[in-house]
Amino acid sequence: MEEYRKVLTNWYNHSKRELPWRGSEDPYQIWVSEVILQQTRISQGTEYYHNFLKSFPDIKSLAMAPEEDVLKVWQGLGYYSRARNMHHAAKTVLSDHKGTFPKDYLSIRKLKGIGDYTAAAISSIAFGLPYAVVDGNVYRVLSRLFGIYTPIDSSAGKKEFYELAQMLLDVTQPGEFNQALMEFGAIQCLPTQPLCDSCPLSLKCHAFTHQNISDFPVKSKLKKQKERFLNYLYLHNGKNLFLKKREEKDIWRNMFQFPLIETTSRTTPEEFFESSDWKDLFKNHSITIESIFPERVHLLTHQRLYIRFYSVKLEENGSPEHLIRIEMDEISKYPVPKPIELFLLENGH
Ligand code: SF4
Repeated sequence: MEEYRKVLTNWYNHSKRELPWRGSEDPYQIWVSEVILQQTRISQGTEYYHNFLKSFPDIKSLAMAPEEDVLKVWQGLGYYSRARNMHHAAKTVLSDHKGTFPKDYLSIRKLKGIGDYTAAAISSIAFGLPYAVVDGNVYRVLSRLFGIYTPIDSSAGKKEFYELAQMLLDVTQPGEFNQALMEFGAIQCLPTQPLCDSCPLSLKCHAFTHQNISDFPVKSKLKKQKERFLNYLYLHNGKNLFLKKREEKDIWRNMFQFPLIETTSRTTPEEFFESSDWKDLFKNHSITIESIFPERVHLLTHQRLYIRFYSVKLEENGSPEHLIRIEMDEISKYPVPKPIELFLLENGH
């Protein structure tokens, strides 16, 4: 984790954007900026930030203002409950905390409209408390860096990502580090076109090294995706490799693949070797099963593929029916699906 921390901090020092609230340790200003930016682009949010602070320069002035005035300043920003909640919270600070912003996480978290994210941001940036923030940017960055398939909108995912962010947090400078991670997600590890070529973490990034960046972050609707169980046979005789063209109306149409046996549910290798498809394929052939690889998951937009590769050696000169026989080193000429491409790369092709 230390290396990630160092790289991210270094990156932040050189690459962060200059924003009006950057560098402020005033909890009120940090709170205002965080709430405004929750659903708003920075360019629009900056103007509202300045106007809001001009109208309500401190928490007392906000608490004392009529609600219409607060909503008027908020006008055009949308999600008006944010303004109403801030107004309510400011009144609570005035009545319950003598007008001083509370300095501990739990008291901050209790204020109306302040959730885990905003409480962690204020606690860490204003008070240097070791609470990790987990916003959309952080989910995206962590899921890609560490290859986490747990859906980010599930309770298991929330727990897992929070724990990871907490482990990664630089407790010697939690505010700076939280901002570094969020900023990294906002301008480097972008949602659709992350800047991997200039990323200082690319060699340590799971998604980049596995070339499956668009798979992350995973959302729970993917749980309802169709699940398929693909067993690919890396079938060779030492000199030749056997392929099949995908001609059916299905994913990867017209690409080439290893002989495939698809099952309707997950099978253990023992069950698989007992299946009729396996027996039919090799009924007239002599083979050796060389390796059984661990199952891997490959996500497509509407399908979740569970894939297991089997390396099988054909101990004779013939070819099983309907398969294309090629020289081993010719495989690079054939268009193959991504999981097969990765398998070949991992296995020295
Ligand atoms: S290599 Fe790309 S996907 Fe990975 S952290 Fe960097 S920008 Fe994000």
